[in-house]
Amino acid sequence: ATPIGLLVGTGRGAQLGILIRGPQVLEDTRKVDTVLLDKTGTVTEGNLAVTSTTAADGFAESTVLALAGAAESNSEHPIAQAIVAAAKADGDLLGSSDFSSAAGGGVRAVVDGQTVVAGRVSWLKENGIELTEGQHADLAAAQQAGATSIMVGVDGVFAGLVNLTDTIKESSVAAIARLKDLGLRPVLLTGDNRAVAELVAAKVGIAPEDVFADVFPEGKAEAVRKLQAQGKVVAMVGDGVNDAPALAQADLGIAMGSGTDVAIEAADVTIMGNDIDQVAHSIELSRKTLGTIK
Ligand code: ADP
Ligand code: MG
Repeated sequence: ATPIGLLVGTGRGAQLGILIRGPQVLEDTRKVDTVLLDKTGTVTEGNLAVTSTTAADGFAESTVLALAGAAESNSEHPIAQAIVAAAKADGDLLGSSDFSSAAGGGVRAVVDGQTVVAGRVSWLKENGIELTEGQHADLAAAQQAGATSIMVGVDGVFAGLVNLTDTIKESSVAAIARLKDLGLRPVLLTGDNRAVAELVAAKVGIAPEDVFADVFPEGKAEAVRKLQAQGKVVAMVGDGVNDAPALAQADLGIAMGSGTDVAIEAADVTIMGNDIDQVAHSIELSRKTLGTIK
């Protein structure tokens, strides 16, 4: 039998815009001590925008953006959407064929008879493109300045960078402070580069040692498992397809209502708003509800 307090708790949750999969979830929620937060779309808005494009010798910036835009036109990633929008604003979108992508890596397509790749360093490397020391330095400088930088390669040659930025949700700072007030340890988890991740972490009050950056999609669930092996009871908050395995692995999976269906299906709790302050709410709610029936 389900204690009545738990049902009241779930009903109250619905009023607060928190959908809880079953009464057992409240019990699990109460024990959570570590909260992993996906960066893009969870702590940040996830509405990226292209801020600049750079070109390697022999390429024009507008060509780099146009080729990247065409290559990204079949990807649903927020990075792709931003690059496509910027390319369209700069001229007509070029056609592309033979599209393929690697989750957490990048895309590849044929544009105007050329093979275009766009993504992180390891994705370009997989496609036979290595950066020179100077190009690495340019990349590091863009990242230190807070950019999510996408490398673009054309027919096996590095062509340039497309730099993007995201904005932190206004509510994230207070929400993370509240998690800490509840005695929880917030951890930032992202496939993005470390420099950007640490800048975001500093702005929302997460310690640099609690930043897991450059994590591949498989690595997100692995990060949850590692913390669990250390005896932590882990909540994972995310919105993306990439977050689903980690949401399922976590003791408590929390999906953003604005997130993908895959994430929502993998989660125990769905937050209807777009803000992570509902995470602290859910934990407070479960503590209070269970407190009254003990
Ligand atoms: P996040 O954890 O921020 O949601 P992902 O795991 O989706 O990140 O992606 C990690 C990294 O892989 C990105 O920061 C980017 O460098 C690269 N990447 C992923 N998808 C794409 C894409 N469509 N185009 C270019 N780069 C991509
Ligand atoms: Mg995300």
